[in-house]
Amino acid sequence: MKVLKFGGTSVGSARRIKEVAGLITGRGVNIIVLSAMSGTTNTLVEIADYMHKGNANGAKEIINALEKRYGEVIDELLSDTACVEAARERIGEFFHHIRSFTREGFGEVEEKEILAQGELMSTTLMDIYLHEQGVKSVWLPALEFMRTDADGEADSDYIAERLGAMLEQHPEADLFITQGFICRNVRGEIDNLQRGGSDLTASLIGGALLAEEIEIWTDIDGMHNNDPRFVERTEPVHEMHFDEAAELAYFGPKILHPTCVMPARMNNIPIRVLNTMEPEARGTLIYNTVHSRSIKAVAAKDNVIAIKIKSSRMLMASGFIHRVFEIFDNYHRPIDMIATSEVGISVTIDNPLKLEHIVDELKEIGTVTIDYDMVIICVVGDLEWHNRGFEAKAVDALRHIPVRMISYGGSNYNISFLVKKEDKVKALNALSEKLFYSE
Ligand code: ASP
Ligand code: MG
Repeated sequence: MKVLKFGGTSVGSARRIKEVAGLITGRGVNIIVLSAMSGTTNTLVEIADYMHKGNANGAKEIINALEKRYGEVIDELLSDTACVEAARERIGEFFHHIRSFTREGFGEVEEKEILAQGELMSTTLMDIYLHEQGVKSVWLPALEFMRTDADGEADSDYIAERLGAMLEQHPEADLFITQGFICRNVRGEIDNLQRGGSDLTASLIGGALLAEEIEIWTDIDGMHNNDPRFVERTEPVHEMHFDEAAELAYFGPKILHPTCVMPARMNNIPIRVLNTMEPEARGTLIYNTVHSRSIKAVAAKDNVIAIKIKSSRMLMASGFIHRVFEIFDNYHRPIDMIATSEVGISVTIDNPLKLEHIVDELKEIGTVTIDYDMVIICVVGDLEWHNRGFEAKAVDALRHIPVRMISYGGSNYNISFLVKKEDKVKALNALSEKLFYSE
């Protein structure tokens, strides 16, 4: 059994839904995970926003427009009268539910419930379309098996047990359709796995069922060796290790949700990134093998803030680094990059929230310098330290660019450089040229 996940663009119109139906049928009894149709989750966020502000009329207008769009999709997607009727009725029920929220008592729980309707609707449409095509698909309610625990982490045992039991009830199924993104939390309320979380759903299901493979179908032909938005010549990387993919997922274009690599990796289930618009393309296979001595990709992360703390004493007193980390930790600000010297430490964060408070406290232990608008350039590949020459090559590529920090040796898979925002494109291109396209 495989898990096949399709993102919002892949199911973004009646035509796309039909194309996806073609891709998922005749391939055995697999589990299909769908995102909401593109734009839907953003629209639902907007609706919830109007509700939070107590503007029910504003919400109503957007709801009407969204319902109209779904009506058009139904008309284009289905032709059998009974199926059209069934779709109108079920989609109508979802909209009825969205409209049922009132200003009083509208809070976070209600917002999550509104956000959940997108995936419920996309999977419903796909399920009805498949039935029209004579496919015995079974619609699995994710809210009955996808659950998070008290720490907000996926409850893997519960998921495996519930999902296993649900699948067993349907020996007749040609395939199973379920919703990405949505879940219940430890209190039993409707919740979600964060924006873009459908990839994580697929990975969790793959891990729970010990699936043969997890396919993430998106709108690009795999993970590329550089960011196509900034570098002209890029190519898909055909194979990479889980850890390389995990490093890359935090940077550059968000092809894979960063959290989704872990459950697959833990259970050693390969992930294949594929392109719905070009189904024959090879895509990227992410698995447990390192291709030695090869650099796979370069990517950038924007809006980074670098903070340097120079110790007040001449030499770094014991406990200094501990104190620095503690201050960031107290404000729940994760640190991304670190570089240390005998007299100080530089760290980066990607969110300025509470920064003044952090800086105030840091000033008690040292001299603080801050650089805004920085970019982390991440080089990913087999960077095991015994390999020779890769660091030199990467550093050499950047010889005309001022580099604020370098971090190497934290894993076997990456080197990170911190540069100014205005040097990002130049850095990405220089690295690409040097690492991939010269001798
Ligand atoms: N529909 C959700 C979102 O737009 C989840 C996903 O697409 O992965 O964030
Ligand atoms: Mg996505």
